[in-house]
Amino acid sequence: MIRKKVLVTGGAGFVGSHLCEKLLNDGNEVVCLDNYFTGQKQNVVHLLRNPYFELIRHDVTMPFFIEVDEIYNLACPASPIHYQYNAIKTIKTSVMGAINMLGLAKRIKAIILQASTSEVYGDPQVHPQVESYWGHVNPIGERSCYDEGKRAAETLFVNYHKQNNVKIKIIRIFNTYGPRMHPHDGRVVSNFIMQALQNQDITIYGNGQQTRSFQYVDDLLEGMIRMMATRDEFTGPVNIGNPNEFTILELAEKVIRMTGSKSKIISMPLPPDDPAQRQPDISLARKELDWSPKIELEEGLTKTIDYFRKLINP
Ligand code: NAD
Ligand code: UDP
Repeated sequence: MIRKKVLVTGGAGFVGSHLCEKLLNDGNEVVCLDNYFTGQKQNVVHLLRNPYFELIRHDVTMPFFIEVDEIYNLACPASPIHYQYNAIKTIKTSVMGAINMLGLAKRIKAIILQASTSEVYGDPQVHPQVESYWGHVNPIGERSCYDEGKRAAETLFVNYHKQNNVKIKIIRIFNTYGPRMHPHDGRVVSNFIMQALQNQDITIYGNGQQTRSFQYVDDLLEGMIRMMATRDEFTGPVNIGNPNEFTILELAEKVIRMTGSKSKIISMPLPPDDPAQRQPDISLARKELDWSPKIELEEGLTKTIDYFRKLINP
């Protein structure tokens, strides 16, 4: 077996910590880089016993040098409340982080995968979203520090590929949930589960008719690893998400039912530029990666509810 050396930026976050764990389980050596802005050591502390795991506190807006075979670039806050907290820092993380990691990949000839997002489609006017759609993003809105940062990162990736032959892979991740989301992360699945388990009001922003398509984290990991293993000419971008679409109201009702909660649903103001609908077209991932999600919402929610239950009552 060949033990690859893999760098995961943002490796102490929700997705990153699962990715580090899976890469180690698959027999690789993993270096996890994080500045702990939205991630936490707690997410990877169980991996520290593994001699092939290394944890480094580092901010990707600063250059970093290491010899690795593959880089997964995940460093970036993903929840709207966190990425809007310091908008300038968010765009710096996406853009300068991409430049630093692409420069590193160029120098050491590593393959680099970018965790891009369905947010590059903005509030989409094409439904479901296919990779050839250019998107509908407000460049000066509340979400632009994240959306435009991720769009600029994609631009950097394709141009490092064209100009410098860097081996790149771009995936556009759609709403992903699962254990190890931060309890105060602010995203909808963790918010609703935390609220339901504590019999607090479930906060629906707007009328709850906006839609999202929720993917369980294990399906995402499989897609990421398959993407990294594709032939050099296949760079993406490729959508990785679960096409089953739900309204936010449906999600709230499901979580209340599954937790047996006494919570009431309340309506709060809809944040500006909140996308009205979102659903991935995954034909390209099916064709190129032979990938499709396997875990449906109820099954994934059961595992996630279990995790948060234990977190609240250890
Ligand atoms: P997360 O907030 O849990 O993880 C992000 C990690 O990046 C955290 O550990 C954070 O501390 C770290 N980080 C932030 N800024 C950094 C910096 N400047 N230097 C070093 N580390 C930094 O979010 P997540 O859900 O795990 O998302 C991981 C990646 O996947 C992000 O790039 C996100 O944009 C992308 N993504 C996630 C989703 C999703 O639904 N989870 C959807 C689309 C895209
Ligand atoms: N949302 C909600 N209540 C919450 C958190 C989020 O109604 O407590 C809504 C939010 O307005 C959006 C959807 O749920 O329409 C998904 O929000 P999230 O922040 O999880 O992700 P994103 O908007 O980036 O897809």
